[in-house]
Amino acid sequence: MSKILLVEPNFPIPAKSKNHRDFLPVGLLKLASFHRNKGDEIKLIRGNQYFDDFYPSQIKITSLFTYWSNYVWDSVKFYKEAYPKAKIVVGGIYASLMPEHCKQSGCDEVFVGVDERVEKFKPAYDLVDVDYQIAHTSRGCLRKCKFCGTWKIEPEFISKKSIKDEICSNRIIFYDNNLLANPHIKEILEELKNAKHNGRVVYSESQCGIDGRLLTSEVAKLLKQARFLNPRIAWDHGYSQKKMIKKQIDMLVAAGYPRKEIYIFMIYNFEQDYHEMVKKLNQCQRWGVQIADCRYRPLNQISEHYNPRKRQMSDEYYIHPRWTDRQIKLFRRRVRRQNIKVRHGFSFYSKKLERLGARKKRAELMSK
Ligand code: SF4
Repeated sequence: MSKILLVEPNFPIPAKSKNHRDFLPVGLLKLASFHRNKGDEIKLIRGNQYFDDFYPSQIKITSLFTYWSNYVWDSVKFYKEAYPKAKIVVGGIYASLMPEHCKQSGCDEVFVGVDERVEKFKPAYDLVDVDYQIAHTSRGCLRKCKFCGTWKIEPEFISKKSIKDEICSNRIIFYDNNLLANPHIKEILEELKNAKHNGRVVYSESQCGIDGRLLTSEVAKLLKQARFLNPRIAWDHGYSQKKMIKKQIDMLVAAGYPRKEIYIFMIYNFEQDYHEMVKKLNQCQRWGVQIADCRYRPLNQISEHYNPRKRQMSDEYYIHPRWTDRQIKLFRRRVRRQNIKVRHGFSFYSKKLERLGARKKRAELMSK
């Protein structure tokens, strides 16, 4: 029996979001199950901490975005000094995208990609306090978008035919990169439609945007019947895609989704300039749908010091040559305000209305 320490570095995730569906260290939770199955003793820790009574033989550190690499380096340094005899292995997104750089952190090994032996284990949810489960129906992606690292980390597209035996919660968050690319998606949505856990139905969400090019009226209906919440359609390119995006929204609306529950996923600080992105934003307002925005950073960026409340230069964080610091921050603010208007049905934005909307939402939640 070995002692294994599983470490999530001290990433700058606000404490209240630590167990947020977007940040759960699912790879470490699967590793926990894998090692338990071998009879190993495991400990999961967030940040850097020394234990007098637990000297691990191996320390496995996860990594996330490349621009958070310094948190990984800090953990490697801390645990190297704390447990000099332990073998330190780093895996995860940054490790897979920049293994050479990661190796320079001083770790003993870098694990690149997905470990198939570990992948088949269920995450050890008992180690975290969550009211949902994570599931994958597929790994990899059929596409090769240039701003995305998925196809580098998971080069092979692998899909499952069924997930019904994995259901262990009334809320599932799918971590598929491209859920609709699974050739068995209709059968899986049928399973979810009929699924029950503890006698109650199951709700689902997809962490990534859905690939609207693969959406059909039939799939849109199945998504709704399978109780998929807040579908997010990706609008990755220019305003000229407007007709195609509208068609995808119309399919979701016809399937029964209220417009304000539909999100359009947009990447900004990238190839389309601020003015084109604002045109897309305005169009979304006319359609009455919300926006899920994502600020682009190069896949090999190893740090960032973005501060939304300060004027900054390009040596502090990545600013695309077609964008300025002012435009980046203005765009983010416009998205936020527009979403508040759309969500609450306001015709204009004000701080007072925002507070009113938040109170209304709280009251709705309390009455449920
Ligand atoms: S479709 Fe999505 S997951 Fe696939 S390569 Fe493009 S951005 Fe990445």
